[in-house]
Amino acid sequence: MKILAFDIGGTEIKFCLCDESFNLTEKKSIPTNAHEGGKRIIERVIEIIKTFDSIDRIGISTAGQVDSSKGEIIYATDSIPGYTGTKIKEAIEAETGIPTAVENDVNSAAIGEAIFGAAKGFSSFICLTYGTGIGGAIYLDGELFTGNSFSSGEFGHMVTHAGGKSCTCGGNGCYEAYASASALVSTVNETLGVSMNGREIFDNFKNPEIRRIIDEWIDEIVIGLKSLVYIFNPSLIVAGGGIMNEIYITNEINARLQKELMASFRKVKVVKALMGNDANKLGAAYLASKL
Ligand SMILES: [Zn+2]
Repeated sequence: MKILAFDIGGTEIKFCLCDESFNLTEKKSIPTNAHEGGKRIIERVIEIIKTFDSIDRIGISTAGQVDSSKGEIIYATDSIPGYTGTKIKEAIEAETGIPTAVENDVNSAAIGEAIFGAAKGFSSFICLTYGTGIGGAIYLDGELFTGNSFSSGEFGHMVTHAGGKSCTCGGNGCYEAYASASALVSTVNETLGVSMNGREIFDNFKNPEIRRIIDEWIDEIVIGLKSLVYIFNPSLIVAGGGIMNEIYITNEINARLQKELMASFRKVKVVKALMGNDANKLGAAYLASKL
């Protein structure tokens, strides 16, 4: 089976071929040009599909909330204008005749990790991605749990500080306003009057002020995970996002989380995601293979 897998994000559309053993080849990317709107994005995806021969399935991982049964975007922020309501599956299948699976990017990544990566062999786990915000996915008994309107696992918007900092969702005190990678970067830059990115912050890890801010930020991560462990009682939490490649962070999260939890919950382990940028495409390709 030959699958063409796409990962549609706010800045890049990545795509690649995937064979029946889920080897990814011919990895490419083009700019999303999000300002041109959702309709144009799907037209360009269809143009790409038409440059390939004998494709059996299309798998699409995309930003936004996705009704995966219909393959359409229920809601997307203005990072891709006019994307809300886009009927991706219908448009691609009408133009190409190739069966197409569409899933939200964090859910796709969770499936990628479940089948091929850090959660291989686990039937239940939760997944969080720490970046600009905090995305999440819930995988229960071998399947994604997507909720009433395909939007479960929005862990970034659970409230960890009542009445706290304002958030992009319109609320206050959300987990991602304190524990995302962006929250760390802005706290360091505002506190120290510098302009560093995440990489530079960890290059200056020995600076005592920076170290203190990193340690307080890890406490913020642990506060949220503690609640999630009490809700889901998982054996595994997969933490994604480039910042989780810092071994200090995952070691500290595990050590501090163990201290916070009641004894019967302490079997949980936090591990970093393993599939990196390929997780979304692998998850989407896997879903497509099951059509
Ligand atoms: Zn929020």
